[in-house]
Amino acid sequence: MWRHPTARIGYSMSDKEKLNKVAAYEKAIAEKYGEEAVKNPRSNWDENKEKEYLAQMKELYRKEAINNTFQEKIDVNGIKVSKKLFNRDSLEHCPVCFSFMKKTTDDVCLIKYECCHKCYVQYVEDREERWQKGWRPNNENNQK
Ligand SMILES: [Zn+2]
Repeated sequence: MWRHPTARIGYSMSDKEKLNKVAAYEKAIAEKYGEEAVKNPRSNWDENKEKEYLAQMKELYRKEAINNTFQEKIDVNGIKVSKKLFNRDSLEHCPVCFSFMKKTTDDVCLIKYECCHKCYVQYVEDREERWQKGWRPNNENNQK
């Protein structure tokens, strides 16, 4: 089964690279499902949306891979992608609670907040500012 590459975006990307990627994915999500899906990852996703989303991410990623013609390619489940991307630390687990990322909502949250959907609901929702400032559960340096 094809796993879309947002699950593998690691921390070692440069900030600019990462922002570009986040913007691209958010744009794709927003174009397909409306701004609401980006702003509120809790909006309802049904199975068809899920499939459409995955197809779209695949297409987006395929285009991106083609754009990177001068970069070394590796074949991931039949899709040629930049080797650069896959040399990064895999982020298949939520960096906060270490659970597996498996749903679209997890990916949306990962892109935006670097955590899974469960952590988003538990720690980020309604407290986005605190999160964006770097607050994390179990971090002793947290500002109260
Ligand atoms: Zn989590």
